[in-house]
Amino acid sequence: MNQEEQLNVVAEEEGDASNEGRVPPFQTPKGVHDILPIDHDFFTFIKKVVRHRCRQAGYKRITTPMFEFTEVFKRSIGDTSDIVSKEMYTFQDRKGRSLTLKPEATAAIVRSYIQNNMSQLPQPVELYYIEPNFRYDRPQAGRYRQFWQFGFEVIGESDPALDAQAILLAQRIFGDLGIADSLKLQINNIGDMASRAVYAEALKDYYCGKERYLSEEDRGRLLKNPLRLLDSKHEDTIILNQSAPKFKDYISKESQEFHDEVLEYLTDLGIGYTENPTLVRGLDYYNQTVFEFWDEKKGAQNSVGGGGRYDGLTELLGGQPTPAIGFAMGMERVIAQMKRNKVRVPSKDDLHVFVAQLGREAKKICLPLIDQLRENGIKTMGALGKGAFKNQLKIADKFKVPYCVLIGLTEVREKTAIIRNMKVGTQVTVPFSKVVEEVVKRIGKENLDVYDPKDPI
Ligand code: AMP
Repeated sequence: MNQEEQLNVVAEEEGDASNEGRVPPFQTPKGVHDILPIDHDFFTFIKKVVRHRCRQAGYKRITTPMFEFTEVFKRSIGDTSDIVSKEMYTFQDRKGRSLTLKPEATAAIVRSYIQNNMSQLPQPVELYYIEPNFRYDRPQAGRYRQFWQFGFEVIGESDPALDAQAILLAQRIFGDLGIADSLKLQINNIGDMASRAVYAEALKDYYCGKERYLSEEDRGRLLKNPLRLLDSKHEDTIILNQSAPKFKDYISKESQEFHDEVLEYLTDLGIGYTENPTLVRGLDYYNQTVFEFWDEKKGAQNSVGGGGRYDGLTELLGGQPTPAIGFAMGMERVIAQMKRNKVRVPSKDDLHVFVAQLGREAKKICLPLIDQLRENGIKTMGALGKGAFKNQLKIADKFKVPYCVLIGLTEVREKTAIIRNMKVGTQVTVPFSKVVEEVVKRIGKENLDVYDPKDPI
């Protein structure tokens, strides 16, 4: 049981015992969760890693609004996709306009590229984002109704080398996060729109007469969008897919050459891959290269991240034809993978000092002292409530602070303070005016947490 679950259990048990006659405590809606401090360490670490890698490669951050006109997603992702047909949080505003909480970022970014005339900027435009998405998915481990994605887009240029470079960036990020070795790159080329249509017909012919083996959901796919059969999770369909016609026999010579070149660059870069002829990804706007990073040890929800080329999307949303490629990873799934791999994230949140006091006079001294310690870069927590020294020290122990500063009645009278080494249990009394200096000496200048507004962001 993880900490989140433990906390929930505690809340439920406490609710049973102490809530008689009271309003039952609220719970989050199904499929959404709080990000508790323990997981924020992971979120912060991931943000640091992706920011660093994106900065190295010239990407700039973008954030689009939490909701868009529904049509942005309908037209991009496709009416028959799972997302549009059953997973969008769509609502009307007070003037009756249809709006949708963002189920994914790419469509919104392309809308922004067009709206903000980004085609006038030097191309390609490289953008990255870190933001929550909303999908009315069936909640289970790794599948939520609000989840966070990090992703990037390269808009305005087309070359197989760009595809390889995008995959390399994703791979480097997974490497920094300590999970690259447990993920396998799956790659496919799904051709251009024309060859996809021909291939869809071939797939339809193949499945004709086999409908009785298909689930109701897959029969619907066969009717509306046969390509979606290729990423069916139903066992019979998976088996049938193995003998189905293959994309590579239907894509154009140019697409095949494009694909071969991407694979060649990947090999040169030392990136291993598995060619997966059934990989289509669930969004209609993709063409040519599609790829996913899978944890092969997991069954369902094994995709930690994925992406592909979407050369037709800008035009679809009213802009000039503009080639593009993008990638997105689910941060919750990345964190789960990091935990499975026992990756430890370095945190700067550990406290240096706990200030314990006794009596009102001591408290008066402690308030400015705590401020002074913090101003000098010492991460300090103060027990400012009423409690015996012994209890305050117990709390300090729980925070695992290396040092405590204690000020009681004697110290107030003598203008001194006690500095206690919590690890070894020794303590010294120092003049009050020297407390900050003595603590800095013990913590070490290199470990101080000083805010410098001149530091580049
Ligand atoms: P997609 O936009 O569907 O290509 O998804 C990209 C990545 O987002 C996936 O590889 C997952 O890591 C993550 N993801 C997609 N849907 C969900 C969900 N419902 N809950 C959690 N993560 C998700």
